[in-house]
Amino acid sequence: MIRKKMYIDGEWVESRSGRTSQSLNPCDGTPIAEVPEGNREDARAAIAAARRAFDHDGWPQTPAAERGALLFKLAMLIERDKEELAELETLDTGKTLEESRWDMDDIAGIFRYYAGLADKDGGEVIESPVPDTTSMVVREPVGVCGQISPWNYPLLQASWKMAPALAAGCTIVMKPSEITPLTTIKITELAEEAGYSRGVVNLVLGPGSAVGDELASSHDVDLISFTGGIVTGKKIIQAASSNVKKIALELGGKNPNIIFADADFDLAVDYALNGVFFHAGQICSAGARLMVEDAIYDDFVAALKARIEKIVVGKWTDEKTQMGPVISAEHLTKVEEYVEIAREEGARLLVGGKRPDDPELEGGYFFMPTLFTDCVHDMRIVQEEVFGPVITVERFSSEEEAVRLANDTVYGLSAGFWTRDTDRIHRVSRALRFGTVWVNDFNVYFVQAPWGGYKQSGMGRELGHIGLEEYTEVKHIYQNHKTKALNWFGA
Ligand code: NAD
Repeated sequence: MIRKKMYIDGEWVESRSGRTSQSLNPCDGTPIAEVPEGNREDARAAIAAARRAFDHDGWPQTPAAERGALLFKLAMLIERDKEELAELETLDTGKTLEESRWDMDDIAGIFRYYAGLADKDGGEVIESPVPDTTSMVVREPVGVCGQISPWNYPLLQASWKMAPALAAGCTIVMKPSEITPLTTIKITELAEEAGYSRGVVNLVLGPGSAVGDELASSHDVDLISFTGGIVTGKKIIQAASSNVKKIALELGGKNPNIIFADADFDLAVDYALNGVFFHAGQICSAGARLMVEDAIYDDFVAALKARIEKIVVGKWTDEKTQMGPVISAEHLTKVEEYVEIAREEGARLLVGGKRPDDPELEGGYFFMPTLFTDCVHDMRIVQEEVFGPVITVERFSSEEEAVRLANDTVYGLSAGFWTRDTDRIHRVSRALRFGTVWVNDFNVYFVQAPWGGYKQSGMGRELGHIGLEEYTEVKHIYQNHKTKALNWFGA
């Protein structure tokens, strides 16, 4: 069994309480790792270290080019240890090794991107309206950042926060999901090897209700960046009001994938499958809500059903596997509850809806790819995030109806649509109220473009240049070169 510690103020430490917790293998429920279970006291120690590194040890004053060079080094170390990182991610999440390898390539690219950006934003001189003065706008690091990440893309989500924060000159306290801590521990080891000075990078493991809440509510944290569920996101907003810290939230989604009758049929079917069954649907931008135009509805559903029935569910150790388990026993129960809700609401189950019969998969958290048709937009199964391998299909008969129904959601993370009509592409891509809209594609993201949600899918943006700006404060510096007496109150 893997045994690891957490990292506070440049030391690998156990939790102050001495408590530990275990990480379980989603493929069979057996323990794979034991790690310290931190509490509020551990979080406070890490925050104090990050505070000192920011306020007194000179990290924010480090030349930006040097911060960039450290990130380049970290990217190289990630590439060097890619195979080990991919195996750890797969062990923790149950996703296939191939998927984890892609994630690691992405992650190295994220560190390289922010390494390159670190010294590119030198501020600007602005035209002052007052004679003999200089006005300058600079960006400065926001300070100590708490960074809370989820279990579905453990290291990818952590790296969206870690890389821009370090590029900007912030100090960080990371808190990965207690279910999937392994790769965040490993990247902290790599950050130590890269040469970050004491207190700049800290890692506290433990439950969200203690460690996460301490980061969100602490008066010594300047920014809290959170990726996770909407319910937790609302708690973070409340906790963060303690000192009006800056808040960045990446929350859930229930993302429509709209197929117009003039779409390339085969491509649309192919991407509809990928949109929701990749990583067993545990993707914030999963296209779990399929909307198909009347004229092709029956054919589309038939083609989808035929393809879904062929998806191979299994353990990542079996190379035929195309879809792994969901993350935990608790999450499996949640997916099953939603299937029950859908049935009660009158949705028609066409494929799946149950755990696999294969005795080899017993003990693991596997669920069969599931297709519900005859869904209508106000069903809970259509509106709420299942975060599992479940797709619902709704029918629509006009462009106006498709847009209206797609926008009828509290979420606004991403949406996709398929059509060959160029005028429609312009109309619909502007009418959809989502942070990302894909046209004739689905689930594409890259570090150069911003990512984030409209409405209750979040606040702020990660990735791209804007993802770096989130970790900065804007300062206006005004200098008068020929200050004259005002004598407003008399000489
Ligand atoms: P979650 O909200 O249960 O947990 C996320 C993190 O928050 C974990 O580290 C957890 O320990 C911590 N946490 C829990 N309670 C807390 C509290 N009271 N205070 C502070 N921290 C607390 O989410 P999850 O189940 O780990 O992840 C799945 C969710 O994440 C889904 O809703 C998914 O859509 C969302 N997600 C969104 C994006 C995005 O980019 N928008 C990306 C990935 C995942």
